[in-house]
Amino acid sequence: MENRRVRVRFAPSPTGPLHMGGVRTALYNYLFAKKHGGDFILRVEDTDQERFVPGAEQYIVEALKWCGIEPNEGIGFGDGPYAPYRQSDRKPMYRQYAEQLVKDGYAYYAFDTSAELDEMRKRMEAMGSNSSYNAVTRQNMKNSLTLSEDEVTKRIENQEPYVIRIKIPRNEEVRVKDIIRGWVIVNSSQLDDKVLFKSDGMPTYHMANIVDDYTMKITHVIRGEEWLPSAPLHVLLYRYLGWESVMPEFAHLPLLLRPDGNGKLSKRDGDRLGFPVFPLSGELLDTKTQQPESFTGYREKGYFPEAFINMIALLGWHSSGNQELFTLQELIQEFSLERVSKSGAKFDPEKTKWFNQQYLRKKTDEELAELFIPVLKEKGISAEKPFITGVCRLLKEKANFVSEFWEQGSYLFVAPTSYDAEVIKKRYNEQTANFIKEVSEALKNTEIFTAVETEKTFKASAEKMGIGAGQVMQLFRVCISGVGGGPVLFEMLELFGKEETVRRLEQAVISIGNGQQRTANS
Ligand code: GLU
Repeated sequence: MENRRVRVRFAPSPTGPLHMGGVRTALYNYLFAKKHGGDFILRVEDTDQERFVPGAEQYIVEALKWCGIEPNEGIGFGDGPYAPYRQSDRKPMYRQYAEQLVKDGYAYYAFDTSAELDEMRKRMEAMGSNSSYNAVTRQNMKNSLTLSEDEVTKRIENQEPYVIRIKIPRNEEVRVKDIIRGWVIVNSSQLDDKVLFKSDGMPTYHMANIVDDYTMKITHVIRGEEWLPSAPLHVLLYRYLGWESVMPEFAHLPLLLRPDGNGKLSKRDGDRLGFPVFPLSGELLDTKTQQPESFTGYREKGYFPEAFINMIALLGWHSSGNQELFTLQELIQEFSLERVSKSGAKFDPEKTKWFNQQYLRKKTDEELAELFIPVLKEKGISAEKPFITGVCRLLKEKANFVSEFWEQGSYLFVAPTSYDAEVIKKRYNEQTANFIKEVSEALKNTEIFTAVETEKTFKASAEKMGIGAGQVMQLFRVCISGVGGGPVLFEMLELFGKEETVRRLEQAVISIGNGQQRTANS
């Protein structure tokens, strides 16, 4: 076991879009593999045909690509030596293992119809007893443990439908060692004789999962907490198949909780509180309603994949220090399963925005311009690249998302046609109007049109007119932009240049004179 190359897998079922929790499972697997110089595999577990959702597999692949968590083997990322990586394509290989278990006395054929199963359940429940198919109840059912050998052979020859069930011992301690939780001990009387192989010729999740982990030489199983109850069964399967010496180590990750800590984070919470729980927007069939359902993603909300991944990494794991911002490379270096917590991780939508803001600030103005150009195109705005870059420089400190640049600074592209009424009411009079005219003339004569020089001009004009600069500063801003707040005023002038600045000031005097004001929210 010691010298095996680390091989981990992300094994989603294509039953819907990939939830944030799934992304985190994939991420931790990826980080663990990279940290140990191992392999990260994507395996699609589609044995449950009833819950199969067309398009879900592509969604998962696309989401992992966007997140930059790329498997080095598996569906959508190039086959490795253990192909195929989709369980439905591996169908022929499972039966032999189920049959081996039957031969060795660890599993059996069961012929019970669903009516018979229902009847048994009702009978047991009426008696207040455990109604699962187990060491007690199987004795009264139609299976190869109760029927004669001849009868079993006859039924199989007659092609009667049957399943293969594991034969769980009646009373035995099963121990699972979990890297995050320590020893988890369960008595086998708590387990039931799960179906391993279905009558439709498909293995169940449990059988396929164990066979695949074994044949794909998986060393560590890192998955969500919801699979912890299945782990004792998996341990028994490894034992019964004679694979215990190469059984992977287990690590079950804590749940992602709602912001208030009350229960598991679901799509409904996201819809209600206004945040996405999926990486990408899309529309997929909902298996419950059988209707297509659309959903929003972090990508479409304007999140950077680096910010999303950074945020996800910290949901249930913490670094050795207090650091919160990590590149993927840093995460690889820092990651350890030992620092994953046992208790659920509360999701904080505000903190998620904060992460995006941090990454936005780290981008160069040019990078931001590239991202902003499509937004502008959509609005029908064309501007020179250096100007757009300048706008990004002015706006990036106050925004969480590139999309907010437009909301916060559309006036940088389109001169105002109305002006903040409150500021006008308070500050606009004959004297200040004259000041605007004066400063406008003075700016015409300002040779070097930089933030520093225009500010000097502004102050000189105020002094000349005997007005305190503070008294006219906001009015001046409103004349330039229409609104009372925004980026550093004189940097804005530098970005506009002389001609545009003067044009806006002259227009403002005319418009305000004509009463073109507006109330704060109009
Ligand atoms: N197919 C299972 C899922 O959908 C995988 C569980 C596991 O990783 O063993 O989550």
